[in-house]
Amino acid sequence: MNKDNKKLLTYIIYAFIVVGISLFLFNLSKINFLQTFINTIEFSSFDLRQTIVSKYKTPNKDIVIVAVDDETYEYIMNNYGSWPITRKVWADMINYVELAKPKNIIFDLLFIKPNLNDIESDKALVEAVKNNDNVYLSMNLDNYPQEVRKPPVLDEKLKLNLKEGEFKDSNYITFANARVVMDELSAVTDNIGLINVEREADGVIRSMTPVFKYNGEYYPNLSFRVALDMLNLDEIKLVNNSILLDENHYIPLDETQRAVLNWYGGSHTYKHISMWRVIDALKNNNTEYLKDFENKTIYIGTTATSLSDVKSVPTEYRLAGVELHTTFLNNVMDNNFIKKVPTNINLLISILMSALVGYCVLRLTSVLKTIVFLIVTLVFYGVLSVVLMAQFNLWIGVVLPYISTITIFVLTYCEKYILKSKDYEQTYKLAVTDGLTQLYNHRYFQEQMINNVNAFKRYGTMFSLILIDIDFFKKFNDTYGHQSGDCVLKQVANILKKNSRTSDIVCRYGGEEMAIILTNTNKEEAVITANKVCLAVRNNKFVLANNEKVNVTISVGVATVGENGEKPQEIIEFSDKCLYVAKENGRNQVVSEVD
Ligand code: GH3
Ligand code: MG
Ligand code: MG
Repeated sequence: MNKDNKKLLTYIIYAFIVVGISLFLFNLSKINFLQTFINTIEFSSFDLRQTIVSKYKTPNKDIVIVAVDDETYEYIMNNYGSWPITRKVWADMINYVELAKPKNIIFDLLFIKPNLNDIESDKALVEAVKNNDNVYLSMNLDNYPQEVRKPPVLDEKLKLNLKEGEFKDSNYITFANARVVMDELSAVTDNIGLINVEREADGVIRSMTPVFKYNGEYYPNLSFRVALDMLNLDEIKLVNNSILLDENHYIPLDETQRAVLNWYGGSHTYKHISMWRVIDALKNNNTEYLKDFENKTIYIGTTATSLSDVKSVPTEYRLAGVELHTTFLNNVMDNNFIKKVPTNINLLISILMSALVGYCVLRLTSVLKTIVFLIVTLVFYGVLSVVLMAQFNLWIGVVLPYISTITIFVLTYCEKYILKSKDYEQTYKLAVTDGLTQLYNHRYFQEQMINNVNAFKRYGTMFSLILIDIDFFKKFNDTYGHQSGDCVLKQVANILKKNSRTSDIVCRYGGEEMAIILTNTNKEEAVITANKVCLAVRNNKFVLANNEKVNVTISVGVATVGENGEKPQEIIEFSDKCLYVAKENGRNQVVSEVD
């Protein structure tokens, strides 16, 4: 194969490898366990990126959390004796905080059933909510069977006005039942949103559902409800799988119709004030905390580990549930939800990157250079994935590009070395073969003579040498031309091969002389083979270049190791002498003995 063809073959195989890997990648989703494995690593890489990126982000300073933390829990137990506390405390707290004119007060707590033992206290809460239209309450959805709870009919005013588009049903968005805010409260406010959050398979929460579907109608998540009011919106659109709010705000959704949260950090990213301090201040008519609430968005929720509303998120193993809601609101207001790059684009990136690395393996001769190129490519892509997340909130997949690139790197290396070893084989063959007759050449003949003499000396392995010379070949050339001479040489070579064993080594000794090294053969057997060859040539009709048929004869000398010499040169000389005698005696014959 010539150089150009070899190059072509190399690139054809390379193309097959790239196409093979591409087909594999595009069908990966059908191989469940692999897909799960890849997703799990991709999630970890996302978490790592979020942890890095969040260190350089500033959360919205207007969000404050009044936390039912562990200190507060103990304070409550000491002062009220049980949790949940009497609703009078919440009523008092609303009235106290409202003195600071906050933007809003949002309860990440459920007020579901009326407290029949404490009707007065419930009334105080209803009054406080009624008097302040910036207070928001929570409810949630679930899939309880009808027998357990009759699915309630939700008030028209809680619905979300979706002007355009339709959400796809999924387990994260569509629910069959609801736990609603107690009637007394829902009668006085429509500021109610949903606080459902769902974990991924690995237990970590990375996404939240902005809009839920219940009884064929859409309802907003708690923080989404707050955001809509803060942006003065009473309707939304769903276009290209994104929720459009106004020209500056939109929420990109993933395939499950959830929004991927962009994190600002772990616990205490947002200003925390222990709730017991606020209760204490209001009891003592102390206005100390009011300045912290001025014009702020205040979330009231539990962070106490004893109240167990803690979740794993990308930036922290145990984060209070209320901080999911603050992060969601922060993401809407800063318009920076994470956009997940579509799977097909991810696959395309994987293929291009791995094809590039594979191409370099084929082009670069230095192993070190290819390894450096691979590492630089992988590191560059890793850094790029962090930069894209930091600058453009983009989540590009890293696991698939890494796996496919490393796979193609290995495969193209295998390809390169297999082809190289084939190359070596071919070069070796060329180095020991005679181009005209395809017999072994003189150099190989000499090598084999030495090997066989050594084997004879060490193990006593017999061998014989047959030397052949074509009769009157000069004249033949003069008569029929050199080309016809070559033709005859080739045919004689074929006859020699045909009449010898595979273990015999048939060589072109030089010019029109040929030799056969017969391994494990004594003189007697060698003479038989020599006569067979001599007869076969004599009886053969040689076809010339012009299709003319002629006869050719050969003279043959035979020598055997030990009997006629113990060195290669001695054995060759003896057979040459025999050959001389054969010529002298009239040619076309075998001679194996001389005086
Ligand atoms: P003899 O019977 O004594 O061997 O007579 P000869 O003419 O064959 O004498 P010799 O063996 O000395 O001649 C060698 C000739 O073989 C010389 C050359 O013309 C011819 N010859 C050698 N190599 C080649 C070759 O590769 N091709 C062709 N066509 N002829 C060759
Ligand atoms: Mg000769
Ligand atoms: Mg000759």
